[in-house]
Amino acid sequence: MIDDAIRVLAGDCTVIAEDADREEYRGRVTTIVKPDNTVLVHDIDGYQPVAWLTRADSVSSDRRDGFSVVAKKGTQTLRIAAHERDGFAHYPASAAGTPVGTCPDCGAALVRSSGVHCVGCGDRYGVPADATVRDEHCGCDCGLPKMRVERGLAFNVCLDRGCESLDAAVKEAFDREWACPKADCDGDLRILRRGGLIAGCEHYPDCDTGFAVPAGVVDGECACGLPTFETASGIRCLDATCDRALETPLEDDAAADD
Ligand SMILES: [Zn+2]
Ligand SMILES: [Zn+2]
Ligand SMILES: [Zn+2]
Ligand SMILES: [Zn+2]
Repeated sequence: MIDDAIRVLAGDCTVIAEDADREEYRGRVTTIVKPDNTVLVHDIDGYQPVAWLTRADSVSSDRRDGFSVVAKKGTQTLRIAAHERDGFAHYPASAAGTPVGTCPDCGAALVRSSGVHCVGCGDRYGVPADATVRDEHCGCDCGLPKMRVERGLAFNVCLDRGCESLDAAVKEAFDREWACPKADCDGDLRILRRGGLIAGCEHYPDCDTGFAVPAGVVDGECACGLPTFETASGIRCLDATCDRALETPLEDDAAADD
């Protein structure tokens, strides 16, 4: 369930913002307190609040007479005291994101912000930052959309890792596919998750060779013997520290002379 709420307080208020100096306002204003303790006091016009405190250290409210809100952050204090109250309410809140489909559990919208979450039931799915969530026609049997993620190949897997594992798909495609590049090592690179997905030598800890699998598609072989990846920022070697990915192979030079 979504348990984050935005509090809204409206009325004829005195607003006092104190730091090194002190500002005082009075008017019929609406105060919004976000779950991250950001406090915004809005008057009649413009997008800019009359007073605000972003991610306050503490916010306390007192509803005894009218209402009052006190927010503090470091040396800053923001007080809102109502002389006459027009309204006070809590509303459920979530991150707003790009709509990417429909929740199979509750029928509400799935949206993409940092991950993907349901606006209705609050279900969340972690999604790699570079993943593209596909349209609903490419849905999994479980009803969730699929995502497209490039890890050596373009994989299309369910948003829910528990339903269909990206790691398992990458492992099936590339486990033991590349040899450890260390001169005196005869190991293969295994696909493992260590924070992110890595291709790491099977002889670990005797050999500590390991590379994060880049977000991109394998498009050839580097002069060092490892694969090259076509990524959003260009062609690179599996080894991020290797600068030989763009060296022209000798036979291509010969062909160019013809
Ligand atoms: Zn839902
Ligand atoms: Zn699924
Ligand atoms: Zn090795
Ligand atoms: Zn290389």
